[in-house]
Order: sequence, then structure tokens, then C-alpha cells
Amino acid sequence: MKVLVIEDEKKIASFVRKGLEARGCVVEVSHHGDEGFTLASTQPYDVAILDIMLPGRDGLSILRNLRERKNPLPVILLTARSELNERLEGLNLGADDYLTKPFHIEELIARMHAVTRRAAGTTQSILAVADLKMNLLTRKVTRGGPPIELTAREFSLLEHLMRSPGRVLTRVEICERVWDYNFDPGTNLVDVYVQRLRKKVDGDFAEKLIETIRGVGYCIKAGK
Ligand code: CA
Repeated sequence: MKVLVIEDEKKIASFVRKGLEARGCVVEVSHHGDEGFTLASTQPYDVAILDIMLPGRDGLSILRNLRERKNPLPVILLTARSELNERLEGLNLGADDYLTKPFHIEELIARMHAVTRRAAGTTQSILAVADLKMNLLTRKVTRGGPPIELTAREFSLLEHLMRSPGRVLTRVEICERVWDYNFDPGTNLVDVYVQRLRKKVDGDFAEKLIETIRGVGYCIKAGK
């Protein structure tokens, strides 16, 4: 998941960044409202975490400007306990959810999953391809038997494959979504990770789910 965090309090921004990166998210932080707005309107993110009081454009203006431009980016507002009016205004302006500071990172992650699922038009928290199942809330992956242990990055890679079964994801797409934009796809990092994932997911099974499309990228089978 690619997340934009617009928050000028450096301690909170870095707490959010660390927590989300540990869960395999790609995180971009902006400490300024105008810069944050530019990023939100020009770069593709899965969700934005938006503080209200910011230097430059404030959070509610950012939200209003995004929605005026019909930008559907899911937005979670970070509000102070005292900001009741701002919270209500934010929800009216089209925020998807809010969190009151201070909050636990787990709570933020749960909200993020909820708003991005809603944005994808599905209330499903379980992805399934053939007998492979991924629970996005508990982060448990199974193929009939005991849970398959994945690192955060492997989980994120598998999640992207499972979200569009049958569709080939190019190495560049995988780099952008699972790692970062400015990553050089000339290296074989993606291939190494896919091999690791394949060993865990397909290793002991007769039916291999992860396919290599030579010279293009990878795909997970849609099932028969
Ligand atoms: Ca602030």
C-alpha cells in the first residue's frame, strides 16, 4: 500500500512512517500543506493520512480542493481531541474516516484497510486464489494447512498479485507498488523476492500459482 502522510509534527510523522513501513507500506511524508496537496493531486497513493493544522494549506482546504477536483483518494484525518467542528466539517467534505491523536498504529492500519477496501468497492477482508487465502486484517496466509510465514514485503507483493488474479504485473509496476517510485528496475530485486515468495507459497504444492511471464513480469493464476 502506498501511503501519503501530511503532518507537520515531526514526531507523529516519523512514528506513523516507521509503523507503516514495518508493515510493508511505502510511505511518503510531507510536513507542509501546499507540498502535501501537490503530492496528493499528482501522485497515485492508496490512502492519505492528513493532519488538520498545517503550515501553508490546512488539512480541510487540502481535502476540499481534492474533492473539488473529483480526486477520490481515500483520506483519513488526524484530529486533536478539541477539533470536534473540524472533524465534522472534514467528514462533510468527504474524509473517509478520522483518528483522534494520540492513537495506536494498529488502529490507523485497521482504518486504512477499511477505507481502501471501501474505495475498492468491496467489503472483503479475505483475498482468495485457488486454495490460497490471505486475510488482510489478521495478515494470515494459508493454503489449506498451517499459516505461511511471510515478511512484510513478501506479504505486500503477494497482496498485489492476489488483488488482480490473471493480470500480469510488470516488474516496474511491482517496484512502484511494493517498493518505491525511484527504484531502478534494472536490478533483479523483484525476481529475488518472487522466488522467495514462490518457495513459500508454491514450494510443496503440486499446483503452482505464481507464474513468470518471460520478459514481462509476474502473475498469479486466476484459478480454474
Ligand atoms: Ca499539525
